[in-house]
Amino acid sequence: MRCERGISYQGLNFGSQDYLGLSTHPEVVAAGHRAIEQYGLHSAGSAMFGGNTPPALMLEKALAEHLQMPHVVLFSTGWSAGFGAISGLVRPDDHVVMDALSHQSLQQGAAAATQNVSRVPHLNNRAMRRKLQEIRARDTRNGVLVVTEGLFSMDSDVPRLEELQSICHEFNATLLVDVAHDLGALGPRGTGSLGVQGLLGKVDLVVGTFSKTFGSTGGFMATRSPAVRQFVRIMGGPHIFSNALLPLQAAVVLESLRIVRSEEGEALRAKARENSLALRGAFLERGIQCLGEPSNVVPVPVGDPKVARLASKLVLERGVSANLVEYPAVRVRDSRFRVLVMSSHTPEQVRRAAEVISGAIEEAGQWLKAQPARPSRAEAPAQARLQGEL
Ligand code: PMP
Repeated sequence: MRCERGISYQGLNFGSQDYLGLSTHPEVVAAGHRAIEQYGLHSAGSAMFGGNTPPALMLEKALAEHLQMPHVVLFSTGWSAGFGAISGLVRPDDHVVMDALSHQSLQQGAAAATQNVSRVPHLNNRAMRRKLQEIRARDTRNGVLVVTEGLFSMDSDVPRLEELQSICHEFNATLLVDVAHDLGALGPRGTGSLGVQGLLGKVDLVVGTFSKTFGSTGGFMATRSPAVRQFVRIMGGPHIFSNALLPLQAAVVLESLRIVRSEEGEALRAKARENSLALRGAFLERGIQCLGEPSNVVPVPVGDPKVARLASKLVLERGVSANLVEYPAVRVRDSRFRVLVMSSHTPEQVRRAAEVISGAIEEAGQWLKAQPARPSRAEAPAQARLQGEL
């Protein structure tokens, strides 16, 4: 069920970030119930002021083990984890160099910390190297933080992280990777892009969220350094000045993490991958090449925002919910559907989604092409005069 402009629509959900369906898994739900019974509903304080509960402490430990990063700081959202880690660690004279498509939480964290923020073209490690070289040629004293993601969720593409980490070390820079969309959903035992690229425990800083694969909301930063952890706990504003994760959230994420790491987790990821490949294949049969690599995110390019808006309306009316992504999330003429697959989708549902979305894009394009061309702004007054309107 989805509501748009006060109208309820019922149909297939291809817009959910509950990638493995863990938010409704019976064991996850039961863990949530137990936490409510045992601890109540409230964290009742920030983590620094009595808000930490036993499930939150157990979650810190379990995540540390999963990521092979011994020190973890929890936040109440993924947004505040990225924002808090960057704005807490970076001082005004430091530099932040970001992949140009980094998430807003990371961009705003950088903007809050320093004016020395640069963006390099998406996934371009060469450009990153040049930028770091340029910064180090004039500043060898201050810190440089390099920011990227484990899986970019508008494009479903992945940086070459090992190369990036070694470029960072060459120039005495620190690498931060936001694993919001890949942790739990991809990689051996759900270790995400870091696990796939053999980098568990090897990058400097990892931030992420529980709001995709882990059945709840909340976020974290992980590090190998106890001093960095302590610094972020105190200087990472949203950790110290915002109430802690609820015990309910922590217990749900902890149980989700147990499943993510289990055989069942492997099976759920395999099913999601099968669905992702099938969806991409079904779009290709209809002449649409989806962007990026297989993941739970399947970006379907549309381009023209007018076609995209109209197609989005048709898609919803025909019983499929898939998010339209427009400016400012992507460039103006790069509108796209961000179709999200879950492990629980059936092959029939996947086929239907591809049929409805590709049909709507085609129909919207044809309808707009058939409309009489509208006069440009420059021509409009003259044309209106001819029609006796002025
Ligand atoms: N980082 C990335 C890369 C994201 O895509 C998102 C949310 N879509 C966040 C952080 C924020 O996570 P949350 O919704 O848990 O605040």
